[in-house]
Amino acid sequence: MITPTNFYQPGLPTAEQLASWANAYFPADAAAPLTSAAPSIAGLSPAAFSPEYAPTSAPLNYAADRAPAIGAAAPVSHNEWRKDFPILNERVNGGKPLVWLDNAATTQRPLQVIERLSYYYKHENSNVHRGAHELAARSTNAYEAARQKVADFIGAPSAKNIVWVRGTTEGINLVAQAFVRPRLQAGDEIILTELEHHANIVPWQLVAAATGAVLRVAPINDAGEIILSAYENLFTPRTKFVSVAHVSNALGTITPVAELTAIAHRHGAPILVDGAQSVAHLPVNVAALGVDWFVFSGHKIFGPTGIGAVYGTDAVLKAAEPYQGGGNMIADVTFEKTQYQEYPAKFEAGTGNIADAVGLGAALDYVNAVGREKIAAYEHQLLGYTLEKLRGVKGLRIIGTAKEKASVAAFVLDSHSVEETGKFLSERGIALRAGHHCAQPAHRRFGLESSVRPSLAFYNTREEIDFLVNALRELTRSR
Ligand code: PMP
Repeated sequence: MITPTNFYQPGLPTAEQLASWANAYFPADAAAPLTSAAPSIAGLSPAAFSPEYAPTSAPLNYAADRAPAIGAAAPVSHNEWRKDFPILNERVNGGKPLVWLDNAATTQRPLQVIERLSYYYKHENSNVHRGAHELAARSTNAYEAARQKVADFIGAPSAKNIVWVRGTTEGINLVAQAFVRPRLQAGDEIILTELEHHANIVPWQLVAAATGAVLRVAPINDAGEIILSAYENLFTPRTKFVSVAHVSNALGTITPVAELTAIAHRHGAPILVDGAQSVAHLPVNVAALGVDWFVFSGHKIFGPTGIGAVYGTDAVLKAAEPYQGGGNMIADVTFEKTQYQEYPAKFEAGTGNIADAVGLGAALDYVNAVGREKIAAYEHQLLGYTLEKLRGVKGLRIIGTAKEKASVAAFVLDSHSVEETGKFLSERGIALRAGHHCAQPAHRRFGLESSVRPSLAFYNTREEIDFLVNALRELTRSR
């Protein structure tokens, strides 16, 4: 049985300790409100997963009282997973069923995550790693178990390789300030690509301004793919770091991360991969990819906002300097000198976002239970369907036509502005992004300032896409 004194052991708990603590607190018996093992998915038995990749005549599973009733064209669903996401039953704009196609901005949360947060605050809330009491032990157990879940989810060798942060943006800033900046001299170079989110541009500009380093940008082709030969040509003996997105939030391009990494390493440069748009859509294994750093946000993978993770190899985490100073990250403090904890604690000054880290762990359990390959396969088909249907709309131009794409189907209409289109769709209950999506250079590559961006998750359906396309047809007919 767990005792609070477990937490006075130096360093992090081992995987065996975590497992035994998890068993102590969440025995897999019926009385336990939640278990640390895979969650049961509300109303969903594995058998219900079966004919999932194609529209079928399977019965609707919208709760009967929420079944869409607004007009013949309203979307309906055969998608089993939807019932885990209460918000998908919302009505908006005067009673229209919500069509959530803004998943690249943020995903929705399943009940399993919502209930896990509530359970944490009802039964476990305490600060972690301190305090000789039972609740400190419970919260530390839950927090560190969630760290292990992140490590397992992305194929990191150990929970020690995972640093909690607020999200991708904070993660990239951490790496920029803690690892890259101390290694830069004036004239050194950092390589980015033309499809990056502003979160993977501005932190490097700050570091470049502070050190006199220079940013070099790998171009993309007309399809929105990184031109590999041009990328490789950018490397010089002054190249000190590379930072690239795994999936572009504006174009949907899946970048060849393993190849980009191999090239960077051939030239002696470590690489960071921005996984904000990939983790929820593709199985990711950081060890297999060989990357040095990988960052992602919880809210893009059905978890809470305000929590995310940085993965680093042992070598880079050891080499990086503390990012912020304060409690939690120290081993010993005098006014003359402070000794820091080992990583990851070295990068986690102050009280972390404990509950939301636990919630992110629950989100990853949920995704694992649904099945990552299943999600990728379902979304691949749905994206293909979406692009094909959109191409049938008069005067519609798809932005980003890479061979390898995930989730994002951005477009512009020649008859209506991005703002007009977004407003028209919103009035019909369709939530998507109309703007520059924090990727202005990527848009400008295509002569645009903005685009309309439906972005998919595994709970979206062909009926929702038909509803979107019909609305666009109605709009384009009006002019
Ligand atoms: N990178 C990419 C590719 C993104 O799509 C986003 C979010 N739109 C971010 C970084 C920033 O993520 P966050 O706002 O969660 O820090």
